[in-house]
Amino acid sequence: MSEKIGKHIAIYGKGGIGKSTTTSNISAALAESGYRVIQIGCDPKSDSTTILRGGNDLPTVLDTLREQSRVRLDDISAIGFGGVLCIEAGGPVPGVGCAGRGINAAVEQLQDLKVFEEFKPDFVLYDVLGDVVCGGFAVPIRDGLADRAFVVTSSDFMAVFAANNLFKAVTKYAPSGGARLGGIIANSILAPYATSLIDDFADRTGSRVIGYVPRSLTVAQSELYGKTVIEAVPQSEQAQVYRDLAKFIVEDEEAIIPRPLNGPELKKWAREWGDKIFEVEAGVVHEMASI
Ligand code: ADP
Ligand code: MG
Repeated sequence: MSEKIGKHIAIYGKGGIGKSTTTSNISAALAESGYRVIQIGCDPKSDSTTILRGGNDLPTVLDTLREQSRVRLDDISAIGFGGVLCIEAGGPVPGVGCAGRGINAAVEQLQDLKVFEEFKPDFVLYDVLGDVVCGGFAVPIRDGLADRAFVVTSSDFMAVFAANNLFKAVTKYAPSGGARLGGIIANSILAPYATSLIDDFADRTGSRVIGYVPRSLTVAQSELYGKTVIEAVPQSEQAQVYRDLAKFIVEDEEAIIPRPLNGPELKKWAREWGDKIFEVEAGVVHEMASI
């Protein structure tokens, strides 16, 4: 592969966990600081960049490839908030083909179009569905495409399970030039135990949490306007949370190979947390700080 232009970052996480919201707000915050940013949605849902573009749809790379033999950059990209170049890889026709292979085809098409050479980004953010880390979904972290991967998780077990799977993929591919882990973005934080649970998972896996994003009505409201929080409510505390995340990603380039938990370890860990939360619910533990 030719020399990389810009810093390439992959953001993984379970479906519906807040990857696109978080990624779009980070892109918007980076753009606001004067960086040139490309955001590439790698999720068959194809709505990664919607809130950077007023809630509008964008033709996906794969749909366009299916319809016309020659694809131009203008056909598959749009400039969003702050000048962010928005691209949606798209997915296979539902029920046919493999979404992962689709990501591969889309990324190859972007390389053929010389998108990075033309746009000269400072940052390229890949927003990747991480429910199943099959070969295809691992594309952005596997072949040296992204330098760093981050994972968005809430305190829900399935989200942590998906994060642990990403750690397994990083552990597998990093030694041969794949991305390393930049850290965990804790999202939708409502209760104090959620922070403790995610911190504990980070500790156990030799990882770290790079930011805590509260569950906030501001996010829901901004989404209804088809905007990021950075654009819709720039003075809000929530906007500042996203700016802090973006700043961290710019300034701290540490990336590690985590130690994912194996099946029994993860089950045992989950049970222990189940007990702790039960104790809180039952009133046995009155002080959250004691967790
Ligand atoms: P994903 O890209 O992981 O599938 P989305 O970013 O589309 O998830 O988020 C799913 C839903 O959760 C959206 O409606 C979004 O507005 C909401 N959401 C995400 N993060 C937050 C948050 N911190 N506070 C409130 N709502 C959130
Ligand atoms: Mg998404």
